[in-house]
Amino acid sequence: MGMGIGAKARFDAIRDVTTRTPRKFDPPRDEHGKRMRVSDFFGMNTFDLHKMKEKLPKDVYGKLVSTIEAGKKLDKEIANSVAHAIKDWAMARGVTHFCHWFQPQTGATAEKHDAFISIDDNGRAIEKFSGAQLIQSEPDASSFPSGGMRTTFEARGYTAWDPSSPVFIVESSNGKTLCIPSVFISYHGDALDEKSGLLRSMAALSKTACELLTLLGEKDLKDVVTTLGVEQEYFLIDRAFHALRPDLVMTGRSLIGGQPPKGQQLEDHYFGSIPSRVLAFMTEVEYELYKLGVPVKTRHNEVAPGQFETAPIFEEANISTDHNQLTMEVLRKVGTRHNYVVLMHEKPFAGINGSGKHNNWSLMMVSDDPEKDGANLLDPGKTPRQNLRFLLFLMGVLKGVHRHAGLLRASIASAGNDHRLGANEAPPAIISVFLGDLLNRILDEIEKGAGVNHGAEAAVLELGVSRLPEVMRDNTDRNRTSPFAFTGNKFEFRAVGSSASTAFPTTILNAVVTDGLTQVIEALKSKGKIAKSPEDAILEVIREAIHETRAIRFEGNNYSEEWVREAERRGLPNLRKTPEALAELVKKESISLLTRTGVFTEAEVLSRFHVRTERYVKNLLIEVDTLRSIVDTLILPACFAYHGTLAGAVAAAKAAGVAAPQLDPLNALSRLIGALQTKRGLLDSLMSRVEAAGSEEEKARVLSREVAAAMEQIRAHCDELEAVVADDYWPMPKYREMLFLA
Ligand code: ADP
Ligand code: MG
Repeated sequence: MGMGIGAKARFDAIRDVTTRTPRKFDPPRDEHGKRMRVSDFFGMNTFDLHKMKEKLPKDVYGKLVSTIEAGKKLDKEIANSVAHAIKDWAMARGVTHFCHWFQPQTGATAEKHDAFISIDDNGRAIEKFSGAQLIQSEPDASSFPSGGMRTTFEARGYTAWDPSSPVFIVESSNGKTLCIPSVFISYHGDALDEKSGLLRSMAALSKTACELLTLLGEKDLKDVVTTLGVEQEYFLIDRAFHALRPDLVMTGRSLIGGQPPKGQQLEDHYFGSIPSRVLAFMTEVEYELYKLGVPVKTRHNEVAPGQFETAPIFEEANISTDHNQLTMEVLRKVGTRHNYVVLMHEKPFAGINGSGKHNNWSLMMVSDDPEKDGANLLDPGKTPRQNLRFLLFLMGVLKGVHRHAGLLRASIASAGNDHRLGANEAPPAIISVFLGDLLNRILDEIEKGAGVNHGAEAAVLELGVSRLPEVMRDNTDRNRTSPFAFTGNKFEFRAVGSSASTAFPTTILNAVVTDGLTQVIEALKSKGKIAKSPEDAILEVIREAIHETRAIRFEGNNYSEEWVREAERRGLPNLRKTPEALAELVKKESISLLTRTGVFTEAEVLSRFHVRTERYVKNLLIEVDTLRSIVDTLILPACFAYHGTLAGAVAAAKAAGVAAPQLDPLNALSRLIGALQTKRGLLDSLMSRVEAAGSEEEKARVLSREVAAAMEQIRAHCDELEAVVADDYWPMPKYREMLFLA
């Protein structure tokens, strides 16, 4: 058979991929050429508080620390000293440029570089970096999404250093840049980015949590901080294959592709031994991250072939949000060095598990009492008192999530995540809370009235809340199907998309829990007046909260059809697609919650709604255009070529007076091609409806329903064709190649 020209590039790629060897890199060494320990070079490219302490005058350092603790902007007088110290440190490492590194509402990070170089009064070149440049810069805000909050005549916004997140150096092959983690704000003070809201939500939650703790008699309390540890899943695909897939290049996911005979059903990939080329990549990623002070801890294969995960040690949520962004950037950059493309998309391959980001979330007490400093407020304690405190915080979470389940769903909505949520493999689109067997039983007992006769402390002792940590540790068979699960001393918000910034989901979660805790406080205050003892008041508040939030708790299989029906009976929202989910963001209750807690103004909420709706529409339009071009310029031409070959063979056989066995496959192929062409035409007419739609929301609705369905049908035809067209005509790398050869 003559080789279909279209398959040549694909075969070349297969050859490249199968002959690659793991990339070696130079591990860091000391001056004697000895390999350094990670603890010796960890954070070498960050200027953190320890280094500041060494380099800054005592009083300046003191002011900097109190500014950070108060969560304020640095004032000008100390900024110059700090800037000077940072510049010296950076220049000693060969840094030539600096940038304010911020997180606009694109999900990614943005940076604009300025050189240190400046010309002095005598016309000589000098390196300069002032306090003013450290604290603030003014990128042209007009090219970042603002969701209508910023009309063009007031296009200016500014970025301001968030001193709680240390500056760091990014190395590239020919130079180094100092990055200053910043928030991005309009001149009217509106949050244009993802970080501002997160910082505000952390402050709101801290204030409310402190109030509750104070009410419980806590002394020496300084602060309560949100802690976050982010598990990051991703796929690795060889660059050579990636380059031949316009869908992966343009949209991050495959729009067509037949199922391989073996997917993940053998379950042989999860926790399997890591291939050596992948391990070489991971090792270099970790090395780069350690230099940046990102405490990556675990690495392993994930469930799907070609899928992997990395997770750090948890940190304060604003820092771990920055660090997760850095992790994604480093994964991508180092991937290129190893001839990999890192797919962070939530669902790069149909029929195979998608990727998420598990946000492990908790609350930590900061106290002047060293015994209590660092205590995890979601850790069931050893004494009955601590356990009552634990249960109260738990009720705060349950109340918040119960009341605002739709808003939480909105916080994770994106075109990519729609393919994952509710796809019978990832956490579903219905938000519920999994607590685990023991905790569940304890709550049931309390609800039934345990402890009424013996007093609250005795009840908690009897119930065995303090056994929880051990039981949870032993409990390996956790519910992996829940979108929001308690895992012994923290919650795991698993429905977050793998490509998303952790800022927004964490912001919303913080706001929601702030609301829940506020209600707990109010209930305590009113019960306190009538109860026999403070402990009895607490137990009563807990009992009522358990009763009230029953509907949000679910321990069963979240993937099952019964759960969908059960959730409906319970009145829980099931928001399958982004447009429905985003509508929750602008509901009256949501806006009221977010403004009440001081997390966003109404204008900021609306802008987030518009930005996200717009991004959804754009993502889908790009997918549609990509699919059209794949069908028109790759798939149909390949089918026509193979069709022509078969037709030629049939004609030749007939002319020779012999039987033509190609006739049946030829007819089948003709029918399939015809069906694809029909659906392809249908897509065009649907798209004119999208163009005619009056608003972005209307566009989003048509795209999420009719257009998405039409794309699925086109895909199905393409995949059928892939199964019958001769392999050496097929131009695009197949699933079995991308997932199993690299
Ligand atoms: P699991 O087995 O439950 O997944 P791990 O100990 O592996 O637990 O932790 C998973 C992630 O949760 C890690 O990133 C870890 O740092 C993070 N984590 C642990 N404790 C906390 C906490 N108190 N707050 C936030 N994240 C946490
Ligand atoms: Mg986990």
